[in-house]
Amino acid sequence: MDCLFCKIVAGEIPARKFYEDDQVIAFHDIGAQAPVHFLVIPKKHIATLNDLDEGDQALAGLLLLTAQRLANQQGCDDGFRLVMNCKALGGQTVYHVHMHVLGQRQMTWPPG
Ligand code: AMP
Ligand code: ZN
Repeated sequence: MDCLFCKIVAGEIPARKFYEDDQVIAFHDIGAQAPVHFLVIPKKHIATLNDLDEGDQALAGLLLLTAQRLANQQGCDDGFRLVMNCKALGGQTVYHVHMHVLGQRQMTWPPG
């Protein structure tokens, strides 16, 4: 499958991976938008948020809890932002579900 993040999961493309369990991995974003900016992704290929189904409930929760735990481990205990972009209008560029974790700078609202 020609998916960038599946290749990172498989170790075929290098990434600054710093967490892995049987279902998810986390690695630093190559185009960091904040002093802390990493991605938490499922190992399983799911193209977009729209492709999650009820069988993925536990996995979706695991992404959230992993993001929260790793954010705090990365020194974001004063706060952080989670972002998941879905499809073209959502700004998604890599079609393998991922949660962005951004921290250690002041976030503003609304986003651009
Ligand atoms: P999105 O726009 O939500 O699909 O986000 C995709 C993210 O993946 C962007 O923030 C990119 O900087 C990041 N990205 C793309 N290629 C790589 C890579 N090889 N290693 C780490 N992050 C990447
Ligand atoms: Zn994939």
